[in-house]
Amino acid sequence: MPESAARWAPRAAAVLLAVALVLTIVLTTPWHLVDLPEPDATLDFTPADIARQNAFRHELLPWSTTSWVIALAVPLAIGFSALGRRLYDALRIRRWYVAVPLLVFGLGLLASVVTVPTDVMAERVTRKYGLSVQDWGLWTRDRAVNWLLTSLALSVVALVLIGLAKRWRRGWWLPAAIVSALLVLGVSFAYPVLVEPRFNQFTSMPAGPLRDDFLKLAADDGVPVKDVLVADASKRTTALNAYVSGFGSTRRLVVYDTLLKDTPPAQVRLVVAHELGHAAENDVLHGTLIGVLGGAFAATLLGLLLGAKMADPRRTALLLALIVAGTTLAAPVQNLVSRKIEARADYHSLRLTNDPQDFVAMQHDLAPQL
Ligand SMILES: [Zn+2]
Repeated sequence: MPESAARWAPRAAAVLLAVALVLTIVLTTPWHLVDLPEPDATLDFTPADIARQNAFRHELLPWSTTSWVIALAVPLAIGFSALGRRLYDALRIRRWYVAVPLLVFGLGLLASVVTVPTDVMAERVTRKYGLSVQDWGLWTRDRAVNWLLTSLALSVVALVLIGLAKRWRRGWWLPAAIVSALLVLGVSFAYPVLVEPRFNQFTSMPAGPLRDDFLKLAADDGVPVKDVLVADASKRTTALNAYVSGFGSTRRLVVYDTLLKDTPPAQVRLVVAHELGHAAENDVLHGTLIGVLGGAFAATLLGLLLGAKMADPRRTALLLALIVAGTTLAAPVQNLVSRKIEARADYHSLRLTNDPQDFVAMQHDLAPQL
């Protein structure tokens, strides 16, 4: 690449990708569906319900917020100081492709360990209010699996980026943007098949009226669902949930076994109809598209921020800090978009089932769990 192109190309690409990202988010998010009055909890809940919910938030928030701050502060402090480079040097490993994953797994372990006290307190609060039913063995196992998977993913990202930067000192951001986009695409396809089974066991729902009803509901909705799976979520939680994940040949409807225990069948139908709404509106596909653009944009932004420094594996902690900062900054936008998309799925459920009474009853029952 000529000198001038090397300078303007990543800037132009970053601007183009940012515009594509913003346009996709603005155009595919259902910002406004129906006019709704301002919600007023006192109309639907007893003072005791509201007091209990406030007490729960009051007890949980100090711990969950502290955990969040620590989980953010530790990687930023290490990555943006000389500590990250010193830790890399302290490993005294010659081969960078061995040292980099080791550092990533080590920093991930540190981040997980320093939040144990506050996370334990937060977990105790959710158990006290009956939202979590898992034992400490399972809690620890989930944490370990989470650490392994996150570290593995970040190691792959770091190895790929450093490897590309070693090959193309200046222009690495371009192949990195392409690889990021492909990775997001691959993960979106593979997640339901590779990651979900690490946490839950799935069994095909046995033949019967309930399964027939779900399949018919899906057929009426014009959404092809070949199988209904039941996840054994009850070993962890009492929360009710269902979801549609993946797309194309990996798309399936999953219902938590908690939903099939005591929930009135009409409400189970509403939840399933909500998930079909996600499929009908191609929410997974839209999410993937946003993820693909976001991944490519992030790689290009890293190219602008780090340039040729990316080839230096001693900057691994800095890379992690930038990733943590970026995902934290993106979170409010993700939450906003996801709330709008959930509201559209609820609206879809309401229209598909035409059952407003049970819909109100279900939202009422679900609310204290949130
Ligand atoms: Zn949903």
